[in-house]
Amino acid sequence: MVTEKGTISINTENIFPIIKKFLYSDHEIFLRELVSNAVDATQKIKKLSSIGQFDGELGDLKIKVSFDKDAKTITISDKGLGMTADEIKKYINQIAFSGAKEFVEKYKDESDKTQIIGQFGLGFYSAFMVAKEVEIITKSYQDAPAARWFSDGTTEFEISAAEKAERGTDIILHIAEDSEEFLEESKLEQVLVKYGKFLPVEIEFKDKVINNPSPIWVKTPSDLKDEDYIAFYKELYPYSEDPLFWIHLNVDYPFNLTGVLYFPKVKQDFQLNREKIQLYSRQVFITDDVKDIVPEFLQLLHGVIDSPDIPLNVSRSYLQADGNVKRINSHITKKVADKLSDLFREDRKAFEEKWESIGLFVKYGIISDDKFFDRAKDFILLKNTEGACFTIEEYKTKLEANQKDKDGKLVGLYANDISKQDAFIAGAKKREFDVLVFDDVLDAHFINAMESKVENLTFKRVDADTFDKLIDKGLKQEVVLGEDEKKKVEETFKEFVGNNIVQIEALPVDDIPVSIVVPEFMRRYADMSKVNGQGGMFGNMPMMYNLVVNGNHPIIGKIAKEGNENGLAKQLYDLALLSQGMLNGADLTQFIQRSVEKLG
Ligand code: ADP
Ligand code: MG
Repeated sequence: MVTEKGTISINTENIFPIIKKFLYSDHEIFLRELVSNAVDATQKIKKLSSIGQFDGELGDLKIKVSFDKDAKTITISDKGLGMTADEIKKYINQIAFSGAKEFVEKYKDESDKTQIIGQFGLGFYSAFMVAKEVEIITKSYQDAPAARWFSDGTTEFEISAAEKAERGTDIILHIAEDSEEFLEESKLEQVLVKYGKFLPVEIEFKDKVINNPSPIWVKTPSDLKDEDYIAFYKELYPYSEDPLFWIHLNVDYPFNLTGVLYFPKVKQDFQLNREKIQLYSRQVFITDDVKDIVPEFLQLLHGVIDSPDIPLNVSRSYLQADGNVKRINSHITKKVADKLSDLFREDRKAFEEKWESIGLFVKYGIISDDKFFDRAKDFILLKNTEGACFTIEEYKTKLEANQKDKDGKLVGLYANDISKQDAFIAGAKKREFDVLVFDDVLDAHFINAMESKVENLTFKRVDADTFDKLIDKGLKQEVVLGEDEKKKVEETFKEFVGNNIVQIEALPVDDIPVSIVVPEFMRRYADMSKVNGQGGMFGNMPMMYNLVVNGNHPIIGKIAKEGNENGLAKQLYDLALLSQGMLNGADLTQFIQRSVEKLG
């Protein structure tokens, strides 16, 4: 038996300690690399057989992963095409080695190593991240003796003859002391399942097949039923609620992309990071951190994308600038918008019912992606206090009738808390104005986006001013009070409001005498700061407001004569504060006491 010894490459430092050292946190990818090599070898022999270049029996092609705790080995065995001794020299000693060397050289200086970890296929030599010695025992499908390759993690190797009757390759890892965790059954299985769950060749571990070799994303959509998609969703996220709908991606030009994206029930608080989109490359799991590959708002989706065209061996900043990544982004965005548009057109009622989830997603899209508004504008829904839904166009038509101001601008009114703003909503209805509900976290931004995109449309919260001013139709109403009376009323209320403004308005006699409004611009600014998570000056300061006094109300007529002599003005002021939830502490206690006394 001839044993050949040699050095993998002259003039190079020993790369294995480097491989091991700097890929410190992601040693587990050795398994991904070795199992995908086994898959490649298996698919190659199938291919050779199908084109008539191999006419032997294919036999059972399962890949087996096993471990021996006592011997401290992990073995990956395939029935693939195998290698001859010459092929080992060529593929393992030369090509794979130079690949590993290049990898090490390229990333030795990379400051943020976590960036590349898990995304780069180091290939065969990643075995040395966990093994102190590696053996390859392989028999080629060609008529050649079996061969053994052995390396102890230095650049030296030896090749000798081996005893192996069956075609295929065994990779035997002699696990290093610091990697013995991988000799634990549960750990090994967990890593195997993580990377190999959807590999295209059956993988056997502990006498059972751990993978699903034909996941739905590789199948033809027309062959699949709703149940199949839902079952797959459950396979990905066992503890999740059913998705609302899904999109099957299938592109082969100009880039290759398959996958299924699920639209989950989106929750208000965006607690969504538990279930993530998983990225695969030819059914090999790569990562579930798709931050730089999928636009931010699309990360709310769940499911799988599989593309061999996403470059994985580059740093993140490069990834974002990559042409294919950009094209994939806009493809997915378009598909999502098309799907929503179809759903809207095919079954508007169902669409409306799902709007709570869809809406959050669409709004997020509009806010974070400037172009998404144009794709979404026809199915964005606005919901009013009665629960009726309108598209933007429909709503504009509705506003034409009664909510157009003197300059021809359409004014949409909205409430963000229908219970707190009930009095104002009632006031709006009395005037036959419609009130929309904008009560989710993104609405402050969403309203701004709509105003900037839709011509001639503006929104005001129903309690932002008196209705005559919210929708200024240019009709001047006169107050019954004389100038002196007006002055007296103003002075009386000025006592209470500090720096805030008192505005005397000509309102219908049966409107409440005093109310508090918060100017739209001011409240909006405060809302935006809240969404952006900054207290800002409105976070800490009491909100500025205007006190609206109904100059036509009989009680105000009384105050015009008496001022606050009998506490009437103060009582009205407190009522206004109360209805805006702004009466608290000692002021509230006193108010209650006073009211009780009046009753007695
Ligand atoms: P890559 O898979 O990207 O080609 P690797 O470093 O993982 O790079 O593997 C190098 C080469 O070694 C493979 O291209 C293949 O020719 C050979 N090889 C590795 N593992 C096997 C195997 N299990 N069976 C047959 N050939 C293999
Ligand atoms: Mg490989």
